[in-house]
Amino acid sequence: MMRLEGKTALITGAARGIGLALAEAYAREGARVAIADIDIGRARSSAQALGDAAVAIEMDVTRQDSIDTAVAETVAALGRIDILINNAAIFTAAPIVEITREDYARAFDINVAGTLFTLQAVARHMIEGGAGGKIINMASQAGRRGEPLVAVYCATKAAVISLTQSAGLNLIRHGINVNAIAPGVVDGEHWDGVDAFFSRYENKPLGQKKKEVGEAVPFGRMGRADDLTGMAIFLATDEADYIVAQTYNVDGGNWMN
Ligand code: NAD
Repeated sequence: MMRLEGKTALITGAARGIGLALAEAYAREGARVAIADIDIGRARSSAQALGDAAVAIEMDVTRQDSIDTAVAETVAALGRIDILINNAAIFTAAPIVEITREDYARAFDINVAGTLFTLQAVARHMIEGGAGGKIINMASQAGRRGEPLVAVYCATKAAVISLTQSAGLNLIRHGINVNAIAPGVVDGEHWDGVDAFFSRYENKPLGQKKKEVGEAVPFGRMGRADDLTGMAIFLATDEADYIVAQTYNVDGGNWMN
């Protein structure tokens, strides 16, 4: 039995990485998905690979007009939105004394304001539809604790966990469940950038940081995007109806390490 048969989902930042793995998993479970991304070229090729199960939507989560258009285009293409995954985000890192206002503002604009105002637009649509819905925010273990070189990204993800609590408590009266997933370290293009950063700041050869980080995970390896699909599917099903405002770690035990 497919667990998301007949459901529709809007997934932001889904052209690649974790968002794409979640879109593929949702499609396998019978959902139709909108692969929304600022990188529309890549979103199109990712959606094409999923055939009728997916559409590509151009979306910049930092622009209100783009959010509103993306929600309207998703509803036009799929009929309605049952599930939103707020996945788009950027990583940024610097020692405290080198953080710039520009980097700070950009990270908060994408990771926090992008999450809040996409959630708001989709929640309005869900309330109007009267059938509730499921909203899943992508947090991070970085939102659970500070890290020496990653202050701004950690702060944005702590904000996502906090927003999940407030929005979850506010929207459950409309039958909208808002929860979050906090991954640990997940291999992919995103982590190649992280590795390049640490190779500069910790003076390590490329690939070294990634290797160390993987070895330190209690499970024994870095996460893979597919490790997150079980939780993302479960939180989107009716079986998760009584789960409200929670953030779940899916991290191989990493954040407690
Ligand atoms: P990624 O960089 O591979 O993918 C992010 C996607 O978001 C890209 O396709 C990018 O084009 C898109 N995007 C960027 N800015 C956008 C904007 N303004 N509007 C719309 N789309 C935009 O990242 P990933 O590793 O797949 O991470 C996905 C999510 O998981 C993020 O929220 C990230 O913070 C979180 N996360 C990742 C890890 C990890 O180790 N990879 C760990 C914890 C949490």
